[in-house]
Amino acid sequence: MSTDSVPTAQPISRLIDEFNKLPGIGPKTAQRLTYHLVRMPKEEAQSLAEAIMAVKEKVISCSICQNITDSDPCIICKGEERDRTKICVVEEPLDILALERSRSYKGLYHVLHGVISPMDGIGPEELKIKELLARLKGGSVKEVILATNPNLEGEATAMYLQRLIAPLGIRVTRLARGLPFGGDLEYADEVTLARALEGRQEA
Ligand SMILES: [Zn+2]
Repeated sequence: MSTDSVPTAQPISRLIDEFNKLPGIGPKTAQRLTYHLVRMPKEEAQSLAEAIMAVKEKVISCSICQNITDSDPCIICKGEERDRTKICVVEEPLDILALERSRSYKGLYHVLHGVISPMDGIGPEELKIKELLARLKGGSVKEVILATNPNLEGEATAMYLQRLIAPLGIRVTRLARGLPFGGDLEYADEVTLARALEGRQEA
């Protein structure tokens, strides 16, 4: 337990440990959040606990694009104004938010839920690649835009997909190099993303 050095009530150290497991939250922040909750009115804490459970109970994956959603198909797959000849392939749901903020893309998406990473034991079968290939069978998709992150795993995954998809006679493009190598799509600003989309090149 991370709070061994200080004698703390068990429910408190338990909550500190839970917060500590979250991304971007170190021990100090975990403690601060916990003591904030101790002082919080009961109704507010209740509401927070319910919001956490609602995310687990009501959020599902879109059966088409694999994005997280509360309705299936999701709002984007259902959207009548979307260009159904294009699919932009991203690593995580947050990447869709970033690309939508750029307002320069009107096609559909596909979320892989990760990247190929032999070091972490993640192979192609662990990703939503089968589901992507199934979508391409219909013949209505003319272009697949590979928008995995510009780092080693992202590039390797894009290359793997390019080799699978190009033989199907579908145009395969990759976001332009404007994105800093090693960076994360999720944190790129709208202008950079819009430019990377516009300047996309054959993969
Ligand atoms: Zn969808």
